[in-house]
Amino acid sequence: MKTIGLIGGMSWESTAVYYRRLNEQVRKLCGGLHSAEIVMRSVDFESIVAMQTSDDWDGAAGVLQKIARELEAAGADCVLICTNTMHKLADAVQAAIRIPLLNIIDICAHEMKAAGVRRPLLLATRYTMEHDFYRKRMSGRHGLETIVPEADDRAAVHDIIFSELCCGITRESSRQRYTDVIGRGRSAGADSVILGCTEIGLLIQPEKIDLPAFDSTLLHADAAVDFALGDGPLGRADAA
Ligand code: GLU
Repeated sequence: MKTIGLIGGMSWESTAVYYRRLNEQVRKLCGGLHSAEIVMRSVDFESIVAMQTSDDWDGAAGVLQKIARELEAAGADCVLICTNTMHKLADAVQAAIRIPLLNIIDICAHEMKAAGVRRPLLLATRYTMEHDFYRKRMSGRHGLETIVPEADDRAAVHDIIFSELCCGITRESSRQRYTDVIGRGRSAGADSVILGCTEIGLLIQPEKIDLPAFDSTLLHADAAVDFALGDGPLGRADAA
């Protein structure tokens, strides 16, 4: 089994979901007391948020590059950045290491193409919805036309992520707000929904959404397990 490297803490509420999912999937596929080989570095999220809000993306890239190198040195065979937003810096982080970075955007795109959807509604932080890194990669590499909510809905989606979900708070009123945003996205022509922020699954799960929905956290973790079990002695063929 290969070792999965996690850059976590953004926020730790969703990194905890990764940790659980990785181990559950390895147990499911390998049986017995098998669990995932993981090295994790979890940051103080407040310092990352300060760089996001002051537009210091170069500074943030430097932090993530250093951590990725540390994970590689600690024996990781791949790296996951456990947040969609910081995939703005994914190419810079990949350039700093020799092991592969498993890109959350490509993984979600792969699943969406397999499901035959074409026009997903993206729910995410305002950085992911409004900067071009996410939508450009979805269209340029994968031919998927990502649409985003209108401005006031984007603001609500973003604020709920930072002021509630990253703080461990889930409110019924916020779940309803997301459901309303999804309804408006559907009217605007969305054929599916991307939970494109790793905390959104804490509020609303794909099975509660009446369009095909893709939870980036779970898909990212499952892809890491596929990678870890891919060709080793605990590969799928050997799994109990
Ligand atoms: N976890 C979130 C995401 O997937 C947001 C936190 C962050 O800004 O990194 O985008």
